Amino acid sequence: LPGQPDYVRLEDHTRRKSTLVTSRDNDPQRTTQHEIAVGVEGLIGNTPLIKLKSLSEATGREILAKAELLNGAGNSPKDRVALSMINHAEEEGLIKPDRGDTVYEGTVGSTGISLAAVCRARGYKAHICMPSDVSVEKSDLLLKLGATVERVKPASIIDQDQFVNTARRRAQEHTDDPNKPGRGFFADQFENTANYLAHQNTTGPEIFEQTDVDLNAFVAGAGTGGTISGVALALKPRIPGLKIILADPQGSGLFNKVKYGVMFSPTEAEGTRRRHQVDSVVEGIGINRLTANFGAGFELIDDAVKVSDAQAMRMARWLVEKEGLFVGASSAVNLVAAAQVAKGMDRGARIVTIICDSGTRHLSKFWKEAGDIAGGDVECSLEDILS
Ligand code: PMP
Repeated sequence: LPGQPDYVRLEDHTRRKSTLVTSRDNDPQRTTQHEIAVGVEGLIGNTPLIKLKSLSEATGREILAKAELLNGAGNSPKDRVALSMINHAEEEGLIKPDRGDTVYEGTVGSTGISLAAVCRARGYKAHICMPSDVSVEKSDLLLKLGATVERVKPASIIDQDQFVNTARRRAQEHTDDPNKPGRGFFADQFENTANYLAHQNTTGPEIFEQTDVDLNAFVAGAGTGGTISGVALALKPRIPGLKIILADPQGSGLFNKVKYGVMFSPTEAEGTRRRHQVDSVVEGIGINRLTANFGAGFELIDDAVKVSDAQAMRMARWLVEKEGLFVGASSAVNLVAAAQVAKGMDRGARIVTIICDSGTRHLSKFWKEAGDIAGGDVECSLEDILS
């Protein structure tokens, strides 16, 4: 609202009092306001937009990325989701702090890391079920954050039921066990609509204000679908002509769902589905079913771009070389798709996408395959990346 400082909006986001307060020293001449974040929750939301100079120059369109890796609890957009799910569960009376309640979640990492941090801050325990082939740095971090980590069978994009169902079962077992303190609560990021609401109420409105309504396309990948749905729901009614574009990694069925209304090609649907799947080293995005969170905004999605692992790796290397920016796998997918979308729009168009997390979360998997820059130049042009 005009005249109101930023922290008022963040209070609304988190539904906590005094998430950010301002401090002034006693010198009345001094006009600078210092914002003080209260606790780790105060570091969630209000992330900056970064203009990617090299990509903007190469495409002739303005490519902006919301630096969600700067959320300060778990360093990804999942901080917003974790906080929203915990707030909602507290409001519903499903969990109570310091009763020994444990939050259970199935995740490839980011949501677990955000939940582990937010749970600690609020007096809950976290139990995270994740596939055994997820980057080891994510499970190491979860352990350091005091979460219990349960590794389940490796999951391809189509096998997500494994870790999700294990988490659901463990939560129930906890609640049913009279020897365990408190209750078990299954956070359920895929179906829990507190997920997309976090993006509808915070990420979307922030982009709206940061771009001053001057925006032509929003591009994002979908894991749970919470980001793309929530942002689409917030922005589409307020920005006429805005296009919402899904960035989809290899092996995911969402591209076909957006383009043709079905998850798989007819051949794949005829029982050979699994053999046709190409798995991806990209963690966090790509799925082969319509979750509640993706469904919430699905009708608002205009188009989809398919991105191969090879393209994502070339983009990730380009960003280091040209921008000094070290991003994770899903961010690289987003930026390939954003550049592709940009090239199809009028010159001067403005595109926003998301930098979800840092490359440090992907050293042992995506970046291991992407290789080192080793002081050399990236030989490829943007055309090479997009081809
Ligand atoms: N990037 C990363 C690294 C993620 O972990 C996720 C969520 N699994 C996403 C992107 C996608 O976000 P959403 O779940 O909101 O679709």
